[in-house]
Amino acid sequence: MFIIMFGPPGAGKGTQARRLGRHLGVPHLSTGEMLRAAKLQGTPEGILAAQYMDEGQLAPDQLVVDIVATRMQQPDCAAGALFDGFPRTLEQARLLDEQLQHEGLQIRLVIELRVNFDELEHRMLHRAKREGRADDTPATIRRRMEVFRLQTAPLLDFYRTRGVLESVDGMGSPDDVFQRLVETVERCRQG
Ligand code: AMP
Repeated sequence: MFIIMFGPPGAGKGTQARRLGRHLGVPHLSTGEMLRAAKLQGTPEGILAAQYMDEGQLAPDQLVVDIVATRMQQPDCAAGALFDGFPRTLEQARLLDEQLQHEGLQIRLVIELRVNFDELEHRMLHRAKREGRADDTPATIRRRMEVFRLQTAPLLDFYRTRGVLESVDGMGSPDDVFQRLVETVERCRQG
């Protein structure tokens, strides 16, 4: 089952997607993690992506889609994957569709994690202290929120129109949110 975890920066996508991937037995594919790893390794893709990431902007679509396509050729992705932070633009969504269709596959579920703005800001600043990510400064956090609103949020309509979008309340304890996510996936599996 191919699932997309969707939500603004700070919504808890990463933590929840990792756990949900383990629960479902499908790989958790975080493009943010892949790009950070490429940056650390100093690959040409990583060096290019870092210029965008450190500014809170999106890395180029083709670069991200190519990294995902390479990862999806691994045998562990044959039965499904949980995408985290991907797709982030309509062009990425379109290219992902093409790639899946090529294999006779499709996105079955897009989960939108909903968290109010004050809580998002609080979580992002907390994470900045804990993890010391280069792109978690107040200025880049604001830019990433804006990038989400302008470039990524339009994907909601794209997937809603297809009838694969489910919204999940991302407020409350991580365990409560996880429980809601599991219920949502189970409903989709049965439906
Ligand atoms: P994340 O860990 O998902 O918050 O991603 C961190 C940063 O990596 C983002 O702010 C972008 O600069 C870059 N990034 C991650 N995923 C994508 C994507 N799907 N498209 C473009 N840039 C991405």
